[in-house]
Amino acid sequence: MVEKKKIQTPRGLKDVLPEEQKYWFHLENNFYAVAALAGFERIILPTFEATELFKRSVGEFTDIVSKEMYSFKDKSGNNLTLRPEGTAGIARAYIEHGMHTLPQPVKLCYFGPMFRYDRPQAGRYREFYQYGLEILGEDDPMVDAMLIQTVVRYYQKLGLGNFVVKINSLGSDRSKTKMIAALSRWLSAKKNELCADCKLRLRKNPLRVMDCKTAGCKSLLSHVGSILIDSLDEESKKRFTKVLECLDEMKVEYELDPTLVRGLDYYTHTLFEVVVRGSDLAICGGGRYDNLIKQLGGLHTPAIGLAGGVERTIEALKAQGVVIPEPVKAELFIVQLGDRAKAKATEVFEKLNAANFRVATALGRGNIQAQLREANKLNCLLVVIIGDQEVHDKNVIVRDMKDRSQETIIDRDVMRIVAKKLEEKGIRIS
Ligand code: AMP
Repeated sequence: MVEKKKIQTPRGLKDVLPEEQKYWFHLENNFYAVAALAGFERIILPTFEATELFKRSVGEFTDIVSKEMYSFKDKSGNNLTLRPEGTAGIARAYIEHGMHTLPQPVKLCYFGPMFRYDRPQAGRYREFYQYGLEILGEDDPMVDAMLIQTVVRYYQKLGLGNFVVKINSLGSDRSKTKMIAALSRWLSAKKNELCADCKLRLRKNPLRVMDCKTAGCKSLLSHVGSILIDSLDEESKKRFTKVLECLDEMKVEYELDPTLVRGLDYYTHTLFEVVVRGSDLAICGGGRYDNLIKQLGGLHTPAIGLAGGVERTIEALKAQGVVIPEPVKAELFIVQLGDRAKAKATEVFEKLNAANFRVATALGRGNIQAQLREANKLNCLLVVIIGDQEVHDKNVIVRDMKDRSQETIIDRDVMRIVAKKLEEKGIRIS
């Protein structure tokens, strides 16, 4: 016999099974709640866009664009890419929908999948979810601090502790150019100590060397010192100081990290990451992108945004043992015994369901013990038992799963009685 090969999820992808859903609900519901309170409106963008959009925004010589994009030609020959991040699409949508005519700033939030051909390992997937916040059309340093404060509030709401905001500034466009030149000079003198990838980065995009994860480059870069921060012009320094002062006033703790540059080209001025202490993977990263919208053909529009990783945030919550409320699967279970009882059971199921009771059944099973075992596994509080005799007598039996007591009631009273019994157990059905 030829054994059929099992098909599995492609490398770097994963299923999110029902038992994981409590974490996903917890993250998504709290994200939209915190974002709405801070004035962000939800936006849903396509999961693929023109490849050109990412090349022109994230940058052609970044790791994301040069190595990690899922790009393809569709049947009409259009060059498309599964989005590797959210900001480029936001900027495109801002221009496409003339959002500059809306009251500024425009505050948008999203929660959705991103795709990167990254090397799969703990905390790195090829399809992963991000929550993102973007504020467009405002350049006040206070906005930078407020954005960081919003994500800190989100983490506090999730129950996450022991995290730190790392912050740096790339300064204005002019500062950034100066910074790149200074770094390039410093790195060129030590070229032989760089890994092969970084030798190429040094030629194409020296700032990207700062993100290298190889031990040799990391150790070299630990001596980079104040080269980057010294390149900031006075205006940029003043602006950065103002952001830090605002964070101080808001009592948001941060650590200055003069080596933080982040792997995308569109950043200027404030950059930040949120890292859980003891882990070297960030759960969130963001920064200002004042030139991006103009670069994509819009008007000059200062903007700032952040994106956090859903899976990494969940992993951090789990590592910290944060208890997430268990969702109730079903309060009630209907046991049916016999053909007529099965028809009656579906009728009672519909009636209870329509009245907002969470009801489970195992209609394929005939045996009472097997059905009670299912009810037990689902932590159901009450079981409604219907046999052919009950159908004939227009009754049902209500069984309490905790004390195993049973009561026969008239079937038309079922809703009132189960509601009363559940209320006695502290559960109110609205
Ligand atoms: P980035 O756009 O690279 O700054 O990513 C923002 C956040 O998304 C990171 O801090 C991570 O939490 C998450 N993230 C980025 N890449 C991956 C990946 N390959 N797998 C899982 N999470 C990721």
